[in-house]
Amino acid sequence: MDYVFTPPVQASLPVVAGDAAFPIRRIFCVGRNYEAHAREMGNDPDREPPFFFTKPADAAVATPCTVPYPPLTNDLHHEIELVIAIGTGGANIPQEQVMDHIWGATVGIDLTRRDLQADAKAARRPWDWGKAFDYSAPCAPIRPIADIPSLTDARIWLAVNGEVRQDANIADLIWSVAEHISTLSEAVTLAPGDLVMTGTPAGVAAVVEGDVITGGVDGIGTLEVTIGPRA
Ligand code: MN
Repeated sequence: MDYVFTPPVQASLPVVAGDAAFPIRRIFCVGRNYEAHAREMGNDPDREPPFFFTKPADAAVATPCTVPYPPLTNDLHHEIELVIAIGTGGANIPQEQVMDHIWGATVGIDLTRRDLQADAKAARRPWDWGKAFDYSAPCAPIRPIADIPSLTDARIWLAVNGEVRQDANIADLIWSVAEHISTLSEAVTLAPGDLVMTGTPAGVAAVVEGDVITGGVDGIGTLEVTIGPRA
């Protein structure tokens, strides 16, 4: 097949202890999946059905890295999240079969232009400009599922310049990995290479140029991101 220009390089993330990279197809994100975070964002903490938004595949950038402070915002927020990497696709996946579709997992940051997201919510417009921008999903290397002790019980944390801002446990997910991936697969046919960012715990806040973000999910990975000058 000839193309009118050279196709873009396949978006990918490195894999823990391996030379081969994990090719990324799509990035799905779960909204409002920890009760305390739902409350801090002014929402009813009642268990509403999970909902999703997306980021472009090449928003995923390997850590450690420097992320340029993005355009159009003055309120860039960190959201530390457990990230699931799909290895086997499927539609209408039953909860009890979700683990068979998971290749591995990592930790990532759902960087958010909070002021643009708030404007979109107020105007009943899509969240895209708040969520789906260049470098908006820095992630640690993906760890194969066989080397992960638990996807249901692990500390998840984030610090800025050494000061802990988010500190919770993935056991507190409102919708577990099995539950929200099963639900997601009812809306789209999942494919190998899809990433699912599973939501953030409480403690989201702004970062500025020069800040150094560290974070992790115990047993899965750690990351470091420096916020650079405006793009
Ligand atoms: Mn998020």
